[in-house]
Amino acid sequence: MTICAYCGGDGPFTKEHIYPKCLYDLTPEQDITFFEIGEEKKAFTGQATVRDVCKSCNNGFLAKLDSYFCGLYESSFYKFIGEGEQTAFEYDFDKLARWLLKVEYNSARTYKIDIHSMKLLIPYIRYGYPRPSGLAIFIQLVIPFDSDKYQSTRNTPGVTPYKLPPMNTRCGPINFIEHEDWYGLARFFAINSYYFYILHPYREEQLKKQWKKALQFFREGIPSAQWLQHNKHAIVLNASSVDALAATKSEILRFREPYEEFKKKKKKGKYD
Ligand SMILES: [Zn+2]
Repeated sequence: MTICAYCGGDGPFTKEHIYPKCLYDLTPEQDITFFEIGEEKKAFTGQATVRDVCKSCNNGFLAKLDSYFCGLYESSFYKFIGEGEQTAFEYDFDKLARWLLKVEYNSARTYKIDIHSMKLLIPYIRYGYPRPSGLAIFIQLVIPFDSDKYQSTRNTPGVTPYKLPPMNTRCGPINFIEHEDWYGLARFFAINSYYFYILHPYREEQLKKQWKKALQFFREGIPSAQWLQHNKHAIVLNASSVDALAATKSEILRFREPYEEFKKKKKKGKYD
């Protein structure tokens, strides 16, 4: 029997979008979803959903969190931030954190990873309290790729200089964290220039000793990520030097085959 992933109730169930529906409406140009479980990799068009969320959760707190996110999209996330630029970002820490966590939890269930550690955060996602001890959120701004900056494309006859904005929506585990000092949940959510990193220790007792060290390790790995303080409501963000290509290179390589397949099918009109 299916039970609701948030309240444990027995339904009725409705489809919950992994990314909010408003995002699909606001970004029709982002029409490909990449999907990977184990060895299986796929690219498809359409909206990714989960089916283990009850109507009352879906239309209740989850809808409220989505509407908070959609407001942030219209005030901030639609923007592409260029090299050397700054932008002010206004936020409500708990609403933002809960929204990020619910997206990660939906995705974690789909991909069958991190589920246990995400379940511990359900009360916070639902009610907004208690805020999990040690929860840390970082944000990094990724800039457009500029072909002029790369030796291999600069001044090459026949290559017209071009820029590529970091236009995508993604989430999942942070892959670079494989370190003995790491003891927690580490996931990211990316939307256009905005890359969020969500970190939480697996166990309370780790807080004192190792968690500080672990966060230090994260900050050394991604030095341009800025810490979002939970007791503030605004931050001035500085563009990092990481560009759209550097940020997505490993995905581009991993999904090259399903992407080529997708393009062929699309050409044949299969996705129209
Ligand atoms: Zn429910």
